[in-house]
Amino acid sequence: MNDEEPVGKLISDRLLCPDSDSPIWGTVVAVQANFYRVKLESNLETQESARGLSGRHFKPAQFLLCTRRTRLKKIGQKVMVGDRVLVEEADWQDSRGAIGKVSPRATELQRPPVANAQLILLVFALEEPTLDPWQLSRFLVKAESTALKLCLCFNKCDLITTAQQQQWQQRLDKWGYEASYISVKKQLGIDQLLSHHLKGKITVLAGPSGVGKSSLIDALIPSANLRVGKVSGKLQRGRHTTRHVELFELPEGGLLADSPGFNQPDLDCIPSNLAQYFPEARVRLQQGNCQFSDCLHRDEPGCIVRGDWERYEYYLDFLDKAIAHEATRQQQPDQESNLKLKVKRLGKSQYEPKLKTKKYRRPSRKVRQQNLQDIYQTQLEEEIEDQL
Ligand code: GDP
Ligand code: ZN
Repeated sequence: MNDEEPVGKLISDRLLCPDSDSPIWGTVVAVQANFYRVKLESNLETQESARGLSGRHFKPAQFLLCTRRTRLKKIGQKVMVGDRVLVEEADWQDSRGAIGKVSPRATELQRPPVANAQLILLVFALEEPTLDPWQLSRFLVKAESTALKLCLCFNKCDLITTAQQQQWQQRLDKWGYEASYISVKKQLGIDQLLSHHLKGKITVLAGPSGVGKSSLIDALIPSANLRVGKVSGKLQRGRHTTRHVELFELPEGGLLADSPGFNQPDLDCIPSNLAQYFPEARVRLQQGNCQFSDCLHRDEPGCIVRGDWERYEYYLDFLDKAIAHEATRQQQPDQESNLKLKVKRLGKSQYEPKLKTKKYRRPSRKVRQQNLQDIYQTQLEEEIEDQL
């Protein structure tokens, strides 16, 4: 056999996966309209099946551009970035395939839409912009309200003295948080952050603008080619929507999802859950009970949460906001009827969209918007097909 001969000539028409028995699994790293970019797991079977009839010099693709099987569409199975999927009908020559199955998700974030994320990397700067404990707490509460682990990271430690940093460390310790202190500019603490926290995980990056998130991504991932979820061509216009997630592949394994979706956290949690999102209150509630089981820890008698902990005033402020948010939600019947109360890990509950809207009702604004979204998606899909 001539080693130089193009792979495609070896099989008459298409270079299909020769051994349909060996399953091909991968992770969805980008969603572009109705196409899914899947990074294949580098298991031996996949490599072998791709190599199969095509000769030993054939290098199987690392990524396949996939559609979703009609049967998945029929059962309403959505595919998200981070999903582990089974790829069928792999066409190695054109690097195409079809998603036939989606593994059950360990976690699911709506904003940004990422499946199976394990960690939130919350980045704040110690200076420039000045670290605002109220804003930081707002992000912390939002992160705590997910089922994900939290890694708190303070950047720009080059801008403050060691004594100032220690003061922050002690303050955060009282809040119940241990943080990583890094300087992207001085290349301090980045390797430890990668090896201790991010390696091998799907991580969602969060934090306000200006704190150095983009600089951190550049420092963690030297090659721009590793922007596996970058949107290209005409789809660029989708870049700044909260639906779009940009994924970066970390050296030594793992994915980092960057999305503007998490940058303006709303205090939309259920008011009675809020105390669970403050470690200071959590510890108090583990040690005892308030007199009333439905205590909101304001001025109720026999409350064990109320006390002289630094962030108690933030708790009260956020509680007001969460109550106001809930009142607004209840005044919007359209929206409320699309939500159901779902009990999550540790007995936490949360409103989530219902799967179906009621029959015989005028479609809600949300449904109408979704229909528009579908039309938009179809247009994008056609554009992509033109590009391919
Ligand atoms: P983003 O909005 O969170 O993505 O922040 P950027 O990565 O764009 O950074 C905002 C600014 O902070 C830029 O001017 C960076 O050069 C600067 N910056 C980032 N990291 C550091 C750092 O460790 N120390 C200092 N002094 N400046 C930094
Ligand atoms: Zn109480």
